[in-house]
Amino acid sequence: MDKVVLVTGAGRGIGAAIARAAGKAGYRVVVNYGRSREAAEGVVRDIVSGGGEAIAVQGDVASESDVVRLFQTVDERYGRLDALVNNAGIIGAFGRVDAVTAQSIQELLAINVTGAFICAREAVRRMSTERGGRGGVIVNISSAATTLGAPNEFVPYAASKGAINTMTIGLAKEVGREGIRVIAVEPGLIATEIHESAPAGRLERLGPTVPIGRVAPPEEVAGPVLFLMSDAASYITGTVLRVAGGR
Ligand code: NAP
Repeated sequence: MDKVVLVTGAGRGIGAAIARAAGKAGYRVVVNYGRSREAAEGVVRDIVSGGGEAIAVQGDVASESDVVRLFQTVDERYGRLDALVNNAGIIGAFGRVDAVTAQSIQELLAINVTGAFICAREAVRRMSTERGGRGGVIVNISSAATTLGAPNEFVPYAASKGAINTMTIGLAKEVGREGIRVIAVEPGLIATEIHESAPAGRLERLGPTVPIGRVAPPEEVAGPVLFLMSDAASYITGTVLRVAGGR
């Protein structure tokens, strides 16, 4: 396979699992990272040692010029882009809405929403059959928090992911005839470092409350994402897939 996928925030957590799974499936993988260079290079090594191809590219998704440079690097290195996984995200400050600051919300939205939009823009410019592209797939990593609301904990985060779901629906309709599918995935409780901004033990406490009885490793999100990227999902677009163990 000569397909190329770009996964944002792929040095750690869910993004790293998606990148590794994509490498195993034969994609050439662009492992974007913001700060975690060593981790991203580790993901690249894992993919390459498994017989795949990957590169690590730094870029802060909240910086438009970084995103433009990131996609230019993909052009120069591979000359094509078949899938984008908008995975990079932060959860923001833990607490109630009556304690939020404008700055913390702006930082959250810059990464989780603006970053995803600008990455999607760059992907559409390359994938759209109206612009000479081959079509492609955009998978946006949303969250089960969109419908749970994350009260007393992360309401701004939940709202940022609500924006991602709406972007998914609108963009899918916009580019459906241009060969591009756009899908959102809503993970539930996944064991990654993102939970470190919550009080210790939250994940362990909440695990048994999930209908399926446990939190999940990132690989259980990567599987559905790889399916959605594949031709087996060729009629799936503009939809939101919950991957949350029944939450
Ligand atoms: P994580 O382990 O904290 O990883 C977050 C990733 O996002 C890191 O690779 C980080 O890269 C990257 N990132 C953050 N800010 C960035 C920026 N400005 N530019 C580029 N990359 C940036 O979290 P995770 O759980 O894997 O989260 C991945 C996605 O899944 C997020 O969108 C999150 O909202 C979503 N999600 C997670 C859960 C869960 O329970 N874990 C549930 C629902 C949804 P660097 O370290 O290189 O900066």
